[in-house]
Amino acid sequence: MYVSPGASILHADLDAFYASVERRDDPRLRGRPVIVGGGVVLAASYEAKARGVRSAMGGQQARRLCPDAIVVPPRMSAYTAASRAVFEVFRQTTPLVEGISIDEAFLDVGGLRRLVGPPADIAARLRREVRERVHLPITVGVARTKFLAKVASGVAKPDGLLVVAPDAEMAFLHPLPVERLWGVGPVTSAKLREHRIRTVGEVARLGEAALVSLLGSGAGRHLHPLAHHRQGDRGHDAAARRRARVAAGGPARDRRSWCHADRCVGGQPGRQSGAAGAAVPQ
Ligand SMILES: [Mg+2]
Repeated sequence: MYVSPGASILHADLDAFYASVERRDDPRLRGRPVIVGGGVVLAASYEAKARGVRSAMGGQQARRLCPDAIVVPPRMSAYTAASRAVFEVFRQTTPLVEGISIDEAFLDVGGLRRLVGPPADIAARLRREVRERVHLPITVGVARTKFLAKVASGVAKPDGLLVVAPDAEMAFLHPLPVERLWGVGPVTSAKLREHRIRTVGEVARLGEAALVSLLGSGAGRHLHPLAHHRQGDRGHDAAARRRARVAAGGPARDRRSWCHADRCVGGQPGRQSGAAGAAVPQ
């Protein structure tokens, strides 16, 4: 994959994957919070997540937080089969598919504009096909870089589509909570919040030297370019890092043309409210 001039990288990520497969296969689970895995939580539906249930949490704690949840044992063969079916849809969408895990991938659709249509339309169709053929909800983020496409899908979850137009990258990125950046775990987040730095924009305004003195040189040098959307694909793979460095450019400011809608071609603000404060995605 390469960093193309338009927003043509898709990050496609199934929503609460294991829990969604269980709900798809058992109608009794619909409309109820679902937890997969009894001893340790492997996955939770969004209703359970909203009550604080998280992957890797102990089962007792999870049941305390969400006593009306239905707890089901994992069925790995069903998840593998669902994953295969979804990746088949990915590969029929574009030959340029980079799998990240069992339920997420990057798709480069930059070369398909003339043949098939604009990336936003391709993303909408992909969501529809996964829904119709595999009966699972999937969220897609679309942007110029893998980094931003992944941030976009995280913001759009669950069951959403979010396109970040190239001229709206900073307007999209800067109001988001710092935790949306790769590499900002609980420790870094706590240090930043201690200094009243809550948003990506506040990180960007801090400057690299101040950030390094606050977080140390590793984290400081990692976060500074991310907050400015430079070296945007750092953290995924070495090749992406090299390409991102080459492609780093100065983005436009304050053009709020990013949108959050199922049919978005850029230019019109769509459903934006509350997105940045949404529950932790999976
Ligand atoms: Mg997922």
